[in-house]
Amino acid sequence: MAKKLARKASKSNARRASSKTSGSRSPKSGSQKYVYLFGRKTDGNGSMKPLLGGKGANLAEMCRIGLPVPPGFTISTDVCTFYYANKRSYPPALRAQMEAGVASIEQQTGKKFGDLKNPLLVSVRSGARDSMPGMMDTILNLGLNNQTVEALATKTNNPRFAWDCYRRFVQMYGDVVLGVQKRPDEDHEPFETVIERLKHDRYHHDVEDTKLTVDDLKELVKRFKALVKERAGKQFPDSPWDQLMGAVGAVFGSWMNDRAIVYRRKYNIPTEWGTAVNVQAMVYGNTGDQSGSGVAFTRNPANGVKEFYGEFLINAQGEDVVAGVRTPEPVAELKKEMPKAYAELERIRQTLEKHFKDVQDFEFTIEDGVVYMLQTRNGKRTAMAALKFSMDMYKEKLIDWKTAVMRNPADQLDQLLAPVFDTAEVAKAKAIATGLPAGPGAASGQIYLNADRAVVAADRGEKVLLVRVETSPEDLRGMIAAEGILTARGGVSSHAALVARQMGKVCVCGAAAVEVDYQARTVTVDGKTYNEGDWMSIDGTAGKVFAGQVKTAPSEIVAGLIDGNETAKKTEKFKHFQQLMKWCSDASRMSVRTNADTPEQTENAVAFGAVGIGLTRTEHMFFEGDRIDAMREMILAETVEARKAALAKLLPYQREDFAGIFRALKGYPATIRFLDPPLHEFLPHTKEQQEELAKKMGVPAARIQQRVSQLHEFNPMLGFRGCRLGIGYPEISAMQARAVFEAAAEVQKEGIKVRPEIMIPLVGFKKELDLQIDVVHQAAKEVEKEQRVKLNYMVGTMIEVPRGALTADEIAQSAEFFSFGTNDLTQTGLGMSRDDSGSFLPQYQELEIVTKNPFATIDSSGVGQLVAIAVEKGRASRPNIKLGICGEHGGDPASIRFFEKVGLDYVSCSPYRVPVARLAAAQAALQVKGGD
Ligand code: PEP
Ligand code: MG
Repeated sequence: MAKKLARKASKSNARRASSKTSGSRSPKSGSQKYVYLFGRKTDGNGSMKPLLGGKGANLAEMCRIGLPVPPGFTISTDVCTFYYANKRSYPPALRAQMEAGVASIEQQTGKKFGDLKNPLLVSVRSGARDSMPGMMDTILNLGLNNQTVEALATKTNNPRFAWDCYRRFVQMYGDVVLGVQKRPDEDHEPFETVIERLKHDRYHHDVEDTKLTVDDLKELVKRFKALVKERAGKQFPDSPWDQLMGAVGAVFGSWMNDRAIVYRRKYNIPTEWGTAVNVQAMVYGNTGDQSGSGVAFTRNPANGVKEFYGEFLINAQGEDVVAGVRTPEPVAELKKEMPKAYAELERIRQTLEKHFKDVQDFEFTIEDGVVYMLQTRNGKRTAMAALKFSMDMYKEKLIDWKTAVMRNPADQLDQLLAPVFDTAEVAKAKAIATGLPAGPGAASGQIYLNADRAVVAADRGEKVLLVRVETSPEDLRGMIAAEGILTARGGVSSHAALVARQMGKVCVCGAAAVEVDYQARTVTVDGKTYNEGDWMSIDGTAGKVFAGQVKTAPSEIVAGLIDGNETAKKTEKFKHFQQLMKWCSDASRMSVRTNADTPEQTENAVAFGAVGIGLTRTEHMFFEGDRIDAMREMILAETVEARKAALAKLLPYQREDFAGIFRALKGYPATIRFLDPPLHEFLPHTKEQQEELAKKMGVPAARIQQRVSQLHEFNPMLGFRGCRLGIGYPEISAMQARAVFEAAAEVQKEGIKVRPEIMIPLVGFKKELDLQIDVVHQAAKEVEKEQRVKLNYMVGTMIEVPRGALTADEIAQSAEFFSFGTNDLTQTGLGMSRDDSGSFLPQYQELEIVTKNPFATIDSSGVGQLVAIAVEKGRASRPNIKLGICGEHGGDPASIRFFEKVGLDYVSCSPYRVPVARLAAAQAALQVKGGD
């Protein structure tokens, strides 16, 4: 990893050094600029996220628009790059620039770092280009030691506050910098255990942290330091500068911690971006009743409603709110408790939205009635909220329609189609507890109380509900594995809520009636105990918890579009969704088709806005009912006559299916692929199946057995499949072509336009295609004559083997269209079996040999080249050739962007993926047009 970063480091330095606009050279020293001030003088701005990280850039931006931000400085991401490229050391010029930064804060605050009269304390916080909530480290109240704490006590005349800061500092620094953390066999943080013990020693029961006396806090600091000595094997540092350098190193170090790596992998954040570090004057939310800390959103990020949304804790520092240890109060309560501060926050809320033109998630501290801003960023939101934000902000003229389209993350859109609880079932079910509705939707699952066990259960195929007192970033893997998350403590901006919303997980938090016993692995609610593995259900829209499994119902969008439910159609969600889809059609260049094998799938896809079928896998039609028998008979036939007889049984089935599909398409085109998979997939492999088939066919079982072993292949995926089948047995293709055309003639006569596009699979040689085209044309001619109709059809091919792509110019002389079979093209291009890659791909991703699963997101630099070559060569010999993609990548937003760039005409994906593909196609068109 370090090597990779080192390589990137020299590249990025070179790039930056040659960039005229970077301003990263310090004029005085001639050395590179690493430290950017914000406050009275501000060096950076909101556009500098790559260099200053999201937090640093926005702190600078807030200073520029006059919001109250405590002064500080940002250490750039270049230092992170340097740090990993140089065995975790700093550029020599950094220290002097940091000293100048601290001096600037001292000058603006009138306090001094390490001073024995008026000590300056700072916070040290990470800040990557994209926010990674809770994944990296933060240290508050830095600069305290046994002397400065007394100075702070005297200066503020508030010893309790000073000692509260000191115990928080030792705890955070001990955890983050000195690594005193929960061991695998512990369920609680060791510092929390020390607190619990002290409360027990002194009060014999649990008391609130705010009730601890100065003497208690002094004792805690002593016990904490002893814990550090015991676990870390060293003394707690006293020198503020040692503390500061240690903290900066810890923040850079946290870029490579396990949970940050997991998070980056999930959200495709490149390792080489690195993090910045922000050092900022502390403001104190824990000086008393006129102080507090909070997190707020300019609108509700769970359901999108335009309301001031958030929460705060009186007499507390920021981490108390985010950690979910105490359940905070809704921000609206501030109106009563601190009206002036509330009015100021309202003003800030308006200013932020007007300036950033997007919903902001911000942190604030109120110190003795005065509001300070510590951070702002675009708020993470559910798909439901994203949709409402985009529509409302368009109506408010804050954004235009194209921006509204871009504001809906394509890979989250399917959250809107996810089921909700069945209204009738919920009405019958009795809620056993209520909490805060933190992540909307419905989830039922078997409960697990620890992330590791949740992961193991999900791997076993169980639906899992992760239940915790509160979650911390260590629980990330478990949260990913779970259907939903339930916590007993914590508010709507607690870690659980934040992460759940972003992942689109259903979440109820702060359900106080839920008692979690980690030791016994039980959850008790109202005297009734539930064990791990028992079912519970949560409604993240209403904040309710139910025992057992509650039945779900389709979302309003599915109910409206697929079931034609009129009530659903009247909902705001449905109307907004339709508006978004309309804009998508306006913005897109590519169209979206569907992969469908039945009339029902086709109808659904058309309801979702598909404008045709990109792939019908005809073999899927052979598995239903007793069709498989005729299919098996056909495969096992030893003479052409016997095969034709079996095919004659299959023909009516196929014709019926095709006719149904054509009707459902209402005139849209249908790409129908001829038989493709290796024949052994259809064969009876067990003795019983073989005997049963023999009986049905009236032949000895031994004959069947023998034929099955004759057909055995060592490598079926590269064997007798695709067009090789139709070439070996032309009568199969003839039957399929006849079925398509007879169905077309039938439906055409009903007055419905029919546009079949016959697709020959796995073509690598022009001659393969030519042989099959002859069979198709022959069948068409016959049916046209028999039925007295004129058929309007095309014949084309899949491009799914490298030879096909490389000789696309030759193939296009015969093919009227190409459809890229990127599943096979990936399989054959990488020489990686799509069915067996599960055993090594995860490791490949871990080692970053591949950044994403190439069977999910197109390997644009490898397989993508084959696509690009085929597009170019295909168009060279047939300029109007129709080009599409029907592999799984057709529903993947990142791949869709690639297909837009290479200029395909359409993408095709499964029916329920159609809305996602429409959105992704629109966004890709807007981005590519915009030169992005
Ligand atoms: C493909 O290979 O991409 C394709 C769509 O065909 P199948 O998945 O059926 O092999
Ligand atoms: Mg294929």
